[in-house]
Amino acid sequence: MYRSHTNGELRLRHVEKEVTLSGWVQKVRDKGFMLWIDLRDRYGITQLILDEERTDKAIFEQAKTIGREFVIQVTGTVIERQSKNNNIPTGEIEVLVTKLTVLNTAKTPPFTIEDDTDGGEELRMQYRYLDIRRNPVKESLIFRHKVAQEVRSYLSNQDFIEVETPYLIKSTPEGARDFVVPSRMNEGQFYALPQSPQTFKQLLMVGGMDKYFQIVKCFRDEDLRADRQPEFTQIDCEMAFVEQEDILKTFEGLTRYLLQKINNVEVAEFPRMTYDEAMQTYGNDKPDIRFGMKFGELNTVARHKEFNVFNKAELVVGIAVPGGNSYTRKEIDKLIDWVKRPQVGALGMVYSRCNDDGSYKSSVDKFYDQEDLAKWAEVTGAKPGDLVCVLSGDTNKVRAQLSALRMELAERLGLRKPNEFAPLWVVDFPLLEWDEDTARFHAMHHPFTSPKPEDMPLLDTDPAKVRANAYDLVLNGNEIGGGSIRIHDKTTQALMFDHLGFTPEEAKAQFGFLMNAFEYGAPPHGGIAFGLDRLVAILGGQETIRDFIAFPKNNAGRDVMIDAPAPIDYDQLTELNLKLNLKS
Ligand code: ASP
Repeated sequence: MYRSHTNGELRLRHVEKEVTLSGWVQKVRDKGFMLWIDLRDRYGITQLILDEERTDKAIFEQAKTIGREFVIQVTGTVIERQSKNNNIPTGEIEVLVTKLTVLNTAKTPPFTIEDDTDGGEELRMQYRYLDIRRNPVKESLIFRHKVAQEVRSYLSNQDFIEVETPYLIKSTPEGARDFVVPSRMNEGQFYALPQSPQTFKQLLMVGGMDKYFQIVKCFRDEDLRADRQPEFTQIDCEMAFVEQEDILKTFEGLTRYLLQKINNVEVAEFPRMTYDEAMQTYGNDKPDIRFGMKFGELNTVARHKEFNVFNKAELVVGIAVPGGNSYTRKEIDKLIDWVKRPQVGALGMVYSRCNDDGSYKSSVDKFYDQEDLAKWAEVTGAKPGDLVCVLSGDTNKVRAQLSALRMELAERLGLRKPNEFAPLWVVDFPLLEWDEDTARFHAMHHPFTSPKPEDMPLLDTDPAKVRANAYDLVLNGNEIGGGSIRIHDKTTQALMFDHLGFTPEEAKAQFGFLMNAFEYGAPPHGGIAFGLDRLVAILGGQETIRDFIAFPKNNAGRDVMIDAPAPIDYDQLTELNLKLNLKS
C-alpha cells in the first residue's frame, strides 16, 4: 500500500495515528538537527518532520539527500504542530517520519513548481507535466472536468444521448481548411478530420435519435490567431422536431444551469438581439453587454458642415467614454495613436470633451459649434465629464474599429469584470456572406442552415438580405455557442448548394449521402455547438483557453513538448503512397 491518506487529508483528529503518505517533495528545510519536508500530491501538502532525537539516524541522513520533486513514501505518526499554518488545511499537524522510501529521484526542475512560477510560457509548455503539478494548472483541469460533468448531467437529464461520431471522415465545411489523413489501404485517398460532427449529427436525427450530444474534439486548419487551437472541444448538440425557440430555451437552460452550479450566479432570461442590431449598436456580432458605450450614429448630425472627412464617409459613429474628459491631451493623443495602429486601422479620431459646466471642447471646433456637439453628446448618450470619440469611413470597417476601441477602453476602465456574467442571444444572422477573394457567396454559418422561409424569395433577387434561422450564444463578448435550424428537404438543400456555387455533380460527390438521407424521412431538426475550451475559461474567470487544456499547442500549432508535427520516415511515406506526390 503506497498510502493510507492523501496529502490534503490529515487534521488534528488524526493526531497519534500512524499514516503512510506518498508524493512529491515540494521543499526541504534543513536546520541541521531538524528537517522539514513539504510533501505534495494532487490533494494538498503535508509537512513531514525528522529530527536527530526522534528519527532513526540512517533515515535522518537519507532525508538530507532528498531533493525537490523526488517521489517519496513515508510512514510516521501524526503530531500536533508547534507553530500552526492557517493557510493550508493540513496546517495544524505534521507527520513525524519513522520510515522513508525514495520511490524515484528527480532532476532539478527547469522552473519552480509553485503557484507563481519563474517559468516562461514556452518552458512550461515543454515540461507541461511539471506545469500540471502546479496548483493553478491542476485546478483548471479539475474545473474543466466539473464543467464537463455538469454538462453531461444536465443534458442526460433532459433525455439527450451522447453518441460518438467518427474522426476519419470526409470534409465537413465549417469555413476552415481540413486536416487530412492519408489512407494506406486506399491509394491516393485521404480522410478529413471533422471540423465538426455536423453531418453526422444530422444523420442521427434522420436515424431517430431525437436528442443527441457529444463532448467532442474538432479539427480546423486555420491560420492561428492568438488563443485558438487547431484541435478544440465542442459540446455538440442536435434535436429533432424543434423550432428555433425550442433550441434557445433548452440551451439557455443549460447555460443558466452551469452558471448556477459552477459560479453560483443566477441570471435572468437572456436578452436577444438581432445580428443587424448588434452590428449597429456594438459594431460586433458578439457584443460584450456588461457595459454600455453603445454606438451613436452621427451621420445626420455631423455631415452638414464643411468637414470633408465626415462628409465623404459612409458612416460617422461615436461612443461616449464614461469619465473620459479627465484624459489629458497627451492621453487622448495616445488613444488616437492606438486606433491608428495597423491592427485597428482607423485613419484618425475626432473627439469632443463634455465639460462639467455643460459646454463642449472638440478637436474639430473649427467646423462644429456647441449646438452640434450637444447633439453628438445626445446621440452617443454622453454626460458631463465624458469624452465622445468619433470614427468615420466605410461602414463595416469603421464599426470594427470603433468596436475595438470600445473593448480596449472598457478593459482600461475595468468594466470587463470576470465574475460578472452577461449572456446574450444574437439571432437572425444573414444566411450568406460575400467573399471578396473568391467573388462568391459563402454560407455564413454552414451550408446546412435553413433560410427563414419568408426570406426565401430574396435568394434570387438580393441574396445578401436573406436571413437564416441561425443564432449565437454570446457571453461577455465571446461567442460561446452557435447553431441553426437545418434544411431537412432535398430540394431546398440542392437549391442552397446551387447558390453556394456547387454544381449538382460536386454537391452529389461531397454531400450525396446527406441528400440521400433526406429522401428517407428526415425530421425537422436543428442544433447548436458550444466551444467547451472557451466556455470553461470564461466560467473560470480567465481569458486564455490554453490554461484549461492539458496539452495545448502553441500559436504556431506546435506541441513543443512532444515536438509535433514532425517529418515521417521514407518507409512510412512509401507505405502511404505519398512519396511520389512529394517528388513531383
Ligand atoms: N456545427 C456547427 C459549428 O461547429 C454548430 C451547429 O450548427 O450546430 O459551428
